[in-house]
Amino acid sequence: MKFCILSTIFLVVFCVEPTFSGIRTSDSFEIQYIPYILARRCRCLSDNAQCWPSSTLWQKFNESIDGRLISPKPSAAPCNLNPSSFNSCTITPVQWHDPFWRDDQPGAMQCSNWENSSCSIYYYSSTCNQGSVPILGVKATLPEHVQTTLEFVNTHNLRLVIKNTGHDFAGRSTAYGSLLLWLHHMKNKALMSEFTTCDGEIVSNAIRLEAGVQWGEVFQWLGTYNLIAIGGASGTVGSVGGFLQGGGHGPLTRWKGLAVDQVLEYDVVLADGRRETVNACRNRDLFWALRGGGGGTFGVVLSAVLRTYPSPSVVSYYLDFVANSTSRYHEFIHHFVRLLPTIADAGWTSYFYLSNTGFQGAFFLPNGNMNMAEILKNQLTSNFQDFNITHAGPHPFPSYVDVYNGIFSWSNPTGGNLHMSSRLIPEDIVRNRANDVAQAFLQANNYSSSTLIGHLVAGGEVSTSKQNNSVNPAWRTALLHMIYTESWSDGTSNEEQQKIVKRVAERVKILQTIAGGSQSASYMNEADPNEPEWQQKFYGTMEIYNRLKAIKDTVDPNGIFVCKNCVGSDDWSDDLNCPKISSGTLLSVSILNILLLIFFFLN
Ligand SMILES: Cc1cc2nc3c(=O)[nH]c(=O)nc-3n(C[C@H](O)[C@H](O)[C@H](O)COP(=O)(O)OP(=O)(O)OC[C@H]3O[C@@H](n4cnc5c(N)ncnc54)[C@H](O)[C@@H]3O)c2cc1C
Repeated sequence: MKFCILSTIFLVVFCVEPTFSGIRTSDSFEIQYIPYILARRCRCLSDNAQCWPSSTLWQKFNESIDGRLISPKPSAAPCNLNPSSFNSCTITPVQWHDPFWRDDQPGAMQCSNWENSSCSIYYYSSTCNQGSVPILGVKATLPEHVQTTLEFVNTHNLRLVIKNTGHDFAGRSTAYGSLLLWLHHMKNKALMSEFTTCDGEIVSNAIRLEAGVQWGEVFQWLGTYNLIAIGGASGTVGSVGGFLQGGGHGPLTRWKGLAVDQVLEYDVVLADGRRETVNACRNRDLFWALRGGGGGTFGVVLSAVLRTYPSPSVVSYYLDFVANSTSRYHEFIHHFVRLLPTIADAGWTSYFYLSNTGFQGAFFLPNGNMNMAEILKNQLTSNFQDFNITHAGPHPFPSYVDVYNGIFSWSNPTGGNLHMSSRLIPEDIVRNRANDVAQAFLQANNYSSSTLIGHLVAGGEVSTSKQNNSVNPAWRTALLHMIYTESWSDGTSNEEQQKIVKRVAERVKILQTIAGGSQSASYMNEADPNEPEWQQKFYGTMEIYNRLKAIKDTVDPNGIFVCKNCVGSDDWSDDLNCPKISSGTLLSVSILNILLLIFFFLN
């Protein structure tokens, strides 16, 4: 009898968990039935010989994935094997900063700081270590490789990271001790002259892109049909990975909406290895979540079906100068910010950079003409003839692929150490508080090694889109996306790096004053990995975050897909390897302890 009572208490206490957390239930005391809490365990990492699969098991697994097991290495490792390898190191600084060179290596991250390894091409490191680069990976080329990998990960309770291109600014595509699922070689793409969506819409020229296809490849390919898809500014970013699932802005988003607004369907492998079609009729909640809720969180996207459009012609204009005095520079920035609504209303997209008293601005207008570009040039520069301005253009491009080949394909060097923070700036603030906006730009950027990057990529169709997806709703009311960045060279002390990280967090508070204060938003793909209150900042509101988390708990109850500041990561330890013991569980354990004490006392 006593045993029965005790068993009942045990079941009630452990299987019905009272959850106090503000994240799960906001402010109410709610009892939730979450049996999965018992299934979550600390992950087995590669340094744990007790649980890490034996070489025989790895061999069997390798056979089951057609021999696709690989050993990723940090990008500078070949130069650090021994002093003589450093002297004969063939990795040049040009390669080091080449995003294509990085894309092709399973262990390389585009921001090399995320490899977290002591290896460098700039000095010989006798302690060159693996850092955060997984020691084993799967170079997947088929959906079956992905499915078999997930089965293996589940069986052995491994930590998994999904990697496409390694562009992630928060290092979410690499993790110490994990198994890497590398999708870079899944390169199929198909153009469908007519795609019928599950709810009956017939879409002309939709494309299906597999997980490893990059935007540059898409632009080149579609260029031959005079079509365009809505991608990023950088051709090396993956088309359907973290970029798409987190939102995706680019030179054409003001014209046709965010990249995520173009998704018609996904093909997904779920945490348990099942393969599912995800669209507006099947797995509808997941479809909503995968369109904005972030990469590496809900499943492995094998491919996505996207809309395309007949390519617009584009005119471009670029200017670059260092002002001849600080006061004149301030005058220009105030003038520029006051002009932004006019520029936006004419349909321009812009990327602009402020550093010290320097300014670079690139402007693109889909379906624009040279006359409009001359007007823009005049508006920007006529009062600043005393500056020594370098101009490129105005220049007409017959189609988007020509802009890509002429401008974007050779920009965006990577490979450095970088930390950033960002805010989306609401359109009404830019229009009505231009003076405050200009002041904030100047104040945020008055540090010598920093750059303030402006993206005029919102407003227009990003605001008017009627898509019902989970992208941060702040995109719909924003005009600008502003990023504050600092970089450092290899060998910079940890102390100095910490100072940079702190400063980046401080500087964004200045941008926050013109971004809606404490409720301001940050684009999760270009954000501070240490952003406090990231749930609200990256996902828009706690209501949206909680809905995403409920979907996450349904499709991935054991938290197989976990990454920094991704939905549900707040249930895991800082290194994301162990489930957190929530206040509810702690309470349950305490109650159980008391009951056991009473039981033994009575006996
Ligand atoms: C040089 C550069 C230029 C950039 N330009 C732009 C830009 O113009 N516009 C813009 O919006 N952003 C831009 N970004 C930011 C970019 O959106 C993010 O870095 C994004 O995370 C890249 O996604 P990825 O899949 O290519 O990278 P990865 O680092 O490989 O992956 C990023 C995240 O997505 C997950 N993931 C990758 N593939 C899949 C998949 N198939 N299924 C599920 N999860 C997956 C990973 O686990 C990781 O969490 C740029 C970044 C860099 C470094």
